[in-house]
Amino acid sequence: MASSEIEALTQALARLPGLGPRSARRAVLHLMKKRETILEPLLRALSAVGEKLVVCAACGNVDTADPCAICADPRRDGRLLCVVEEVSDLWALDRSRLFPGRFHVLGGRLSALDGVRPEDLGIDTLVARVAAGGIDEVVLATNATLEGQTTAHYLAERLERFPIRLTQLAHGLPVGGELDYLDEGTLAQALRARRPVS
Ligand SMILES: [Zn+2]
Repeated sequence: MASSEIEALTQALARLPGLGPRSARRAVLHLMKKRETILEPLLRALSAVGEKLVVCAACGNVDTADPCAICADPRRDGRLLCVVEEVSDLWALDRSRLFPGRFHVLGGRLSALDGVRPEDLGIDTLVARVAAGGIDEVVLATNATLEGQTTAHYLAERLERFPIRLTQLAHGLPVGGELDYLDEGTLAQALRARRPVS
């Protein structure tokens, strides 16, 4: 029988993606056994992130500084912009280390079914970024799902009046595939072989 504090910790961990009550209990036991090597570093890391967590005003990434580390990095090519649905997609593409530009997170995808309209997503801020100039290529890296592709078509329409190259990730992404679940090699290949929006 665990105390209410330990029970609360277990329940909080069980709400994390990929963890259920059983793995949460195992994690709590592990944390308690490894107080100095696991629990205390975790506490410090959680508290540091918890205090500083912000959404980047420029790109929508989640980080501990605004602008985020990617937007603030002068080695990034500002002429190259990659549009993704979610922060998890940005992180997946960034892990592939093949995209030297910056990102724009929409915060979702257009969906008639879920009632997600253009004004619910970061589309006006994307158009404003492109309108401000200095961008040569926009890569539409929405997911290879029906809604992801509908979103890409809509974005292509909104961006066609600007003098930029519009590309999308190469086919070969599995249909229905979500970027976050792809291995880095597949993602890198799709990025390398990106093609103009037709
Ligand atoms: Zn940013």
